Amino acid sequence: SPPTPVFRRVLLKLSGESFCKPGEGGLSEEEISRIARQTAQVARLGVSLAIVVGGGNILRGATLRGSKVIRETTAHYMGMTATMINGLALQDALEGQSIPTRLMTTIRMDECAEPFIRRRALSHLENGRVVILVTGTGSPYVTTDTAAALRGKELEVEVILKATKVDGVYSAPPEKNPHAIRYDHLTFEQVMQDQLKIMDMTAIGMCLENKLPILVFDFKKEGNMMRAILGEPIGTWVGS
Ligand code: UDP
Repeated sequence: SPPTPVFRRVLLKLSGESFCKPGEGGLSEEEISRIARQTAQVARLGVSLAIVVGGGNILRGATLRGSKVIRETTAHYMGMTATMINGLALQDALEGQSIPTRLMTTIRMDECAEPFIRRRALSHLENGRVVILVTGTGSPYVTTDTAAALRGKELEVEVILKATKVDGVYSAPPEKNPHAIRYDHLTFEQVMQDQLKIMDMTAIGMCLENKLPILVFDFKKEGNMMRAILGEPIGTWVGS
């Protein structure tokens, strides 16, 4: 019999870096296929899956802070549209794995994606479709982490699976400090106090207030997403 997932509904936050080769930018078909394969495995278990897609492989608004040509506010809107590019790619890659999907956007782009309407998103999830959420919150000066916290709460998920390139949360950057320790479990208060950079502070605040736990794990390691869903001890669990 197939393994039993410990969650019924999760929100997966895929940062833009899941769409490109490590240290590079843009889109890599190989990386997109890899992430789609892992995601498809989880979806086949019958777990209800909403995915918030980032755009950092293309553009982060904050990088244009101080530009004399493009206003920072504009840059954030550019960043949000970047997530649409990734979302379209992910949709095709997942459907290539025979996973039914719907692409939903906060900023209207009717020819590409459905508008995000909470009740419609819930009905897609109930009908076994993977819901891919793009253009973040639709508002500048936050990131897709905040969108993940917001949509996670709205769609009543049990946990946010935050896929990153490190295998959890460390007391210091592990590549710089060999004595950095990896936490298995953290409270939101610890994250706030020590300013541990796992998501932006708005997102952490929102998760804390809503008691929405976050599992930070390394997505590059094949099978990790599945391990997370089966409740195996990987990454760092952030909760109350
Ligand atoms: N962004 C925004 N509002 C949102 C979500 C995203 O303004 O609600 C912009 C912001 O500039 C951000 C960029 O879009 O830097 C890309 O998203 P993000 O940095 O979250 O991508 P990731 O780090 O996950 O690849």
